[in-house]
Amino acid sequence: MIIQRVVLNSRPGKNGVPVAENFQIEAVPLPDKITDGQVRARTLYLSVDPYMRCRMNEDTGSDYLLPWQLSEVADGGGIGVVEESKHANFAKGDIVTSFNWPWQTKIILDGRLLQKLEPQLVDGHLSYFLGAAGITGLTSFLGIKEKGHVTVGDNQTMVVSGAAGACGSLAGQIGRLEGCSRVVGICGTDEKCSILVSEMGFDAAINYKKGNVAEQLHELCPAGVDVYFDNVGGDISDAVINQMNQNSHIVLCGQISQYNKDVPYPPPLPPAVEEIQKARNITRERFLVLNYMDKQEASILQLCQWIKEGKLKVKETVVKGLENIGGAFQSMMTGGNIGKQIVLISE
Ligand code: NDP
Repeated sequence: MIIQRVVLNSRPGKNGVPVAENFQIEAVPLPDKITDGQVRARTLYLSVDPYMRCRMNEDTGSDYLLPWQLSEVADGGGIGVVEESKHANFAKGDIVTSFNWPWQTKIILDGRLLQKLEPQLVDGHLSYFLGAAGITGLTSFLGIKEKGHVTVGDNQTMVVSGAAGACGSLAGQIGRLEGCSRVVGICGTDEKCSILVSEMGFDAAINYKKGNVAEQLHELCPAGVDVYFDNVGGDISDAVINQMNQNSHIVLCGQISQYNKDVPYPPPLPPAVEEIQKARNITRERFLVLNYMDKQEASILQLCQWIKEGKLKVKETVVKGLENIGGAFQSMMTGGNIGKQIVLISE
């Protein structure tokens, strides 16, 4: 049978901006028969995520991420439905996922690389398993739990950067659910600011592309900042750190403003900002969700319960068609998404 797949066509270069044309769609044959231990599945949804920017470089700069190879199929988080199985754990019709799902309309994978999903956990909204009920939700939840030091009754103010994105929009809401009394988001458009406040329970939001971020933060966080969920780094984070309180905490989730630059991760703070961080005893420890997978099951159950109860509002931006996955990646990297960027491959 002939299927479609998306390969890495060119690298943007460590200091370049990724574009849709870095990827290319092509038709290739998929074997008609599967062998013992294998599963054939039809792809339903694929995820595009900021970490993929490193995989576009020849050297990812990270010991847990392999580079994508030129002319070879790209891969990432994906969900599909089993069409045929020669693995004892899976049957036709099962919904399955993998962190390394090939960007193809159909896949044949060793069953050991797949995990079975329970659609009732998300009331059948399967793409949530790539977002709020998947790695994204885990990142926000565990980031706050492990590094946020949020304490009920402590009247803490949380600031979230990248606040209208997949992790950020959840982080602000989870910060509130865990006990923060004030939550302020920073993001890139007025529309995003308005959604954060009107739909997601943020107290206020700042459009960093308009006006002075430091001044607005000062006004909106009169008691200073106790917890900073940092998705972006760079100037925005420098402005937030300036307003942080003694013994406060940064959840160092990501630094997307630096991903098109050849700098180490996490990028060092400018000396004056580092001085503030040290003088005020602000924690800034590296956080990697993959280091907490022993907490995955219980955390996903909590996230799904909050979603069902309406306590956690979930936003998605859905692009249709495998041929549009490169464009979806480019768009997400430049702020085209509200909530989780999803690519719908088949219904
Ligand atoms: P998002 O859905 O947040 O999408 C990326 C967003 O980043 C865009 O929508 C855009 O929104 C914003 N952005 C892009 N460039 C800049 C810039 N120069 N300055 C400020 N904002 C920018 O992606 P995710 O939620 O998937 O990821 C968010 C962060 O979390 C990333 O840094 C990612 O690497 C990190 N992450 C970390 C994990 C961990 O284990 N530590 C796991 C998963 C993700 P806007 O319109 O606001 O500019």
